[in-house]
Amino acid sequence: MTPQRDRVAKPYKGRFWSAKSYVLHTLADSKSTTMRDRVLRFMETGPCPVCGGSGLTPAALAVTFAGRTIAELNALPMSELAGIIRPTTELTAAGTASRKQTSGEGNEVAVAITRDLLQRVTVLLELGLGYLALGRSTPTLSPAKCSGCGSPPSSAPAFSG
Ligand SMILES: [Zn+2]
Repeated sequence: MTPQRDRVAKPYKGRFWSAKSYVLHTLADSKSTTMRDRVLRFMETGPCPVCGGSGLTPAALAVTFAGRTIAELNALPMSELAGIIRPTTELTAAGTASRKQTSGEGNEVAVAITRDLLQRVTVLLELGLGYLALGRSTPTLSPAKCSGCGSPPSSAPAFSG
C-alpha cells in the first residue's frame, strides 16, 4: 500500500472552519498582529445594528427624556442639553415618582437629577465648553499637538470629580 492510497482511504478527521468562523476566531483569540491584520481585510466596519454604537442595551435605549434616548442626549452639545433639561429643573409641583407613570419626566426624581445635572453643565458652559457633548471621550478633547513646540501635549483627563 502506498502512503498516498492510505491517505485517501482514511476519513478526514480535521476540523472544518468556515471562512466566517476563521476570521471571527482569529480576531477574538489571535495574539498575532500579522494574522489579525490579514483577516481584518475581510471585515467591514460599521455601527452595531443593536445599539447603533451607543453601547446601550435595547432596554436602556427604550428610556427617553423629552423624546430623546440617553444616547441621543449624550451626543448633544451641552449648550443644547441645558435647554432640554431646564424646563424640568424649573418644575415647582413635581409628582411623586411611581412605577405606574408612563413618563417620569415630571416627577420629583427627574427634577432632582436634572437640577444637579444642569448645575454641573452650567459650570462647563461658563468655561466656554458648551460645544462639547457629555459622551465625548477624553482622548478626543486634547489638542492634536502643541502649536508652539510641535510635540503632542501630555494627556490629562478633561474632567474630574
Ligand atoms: Zn452594540
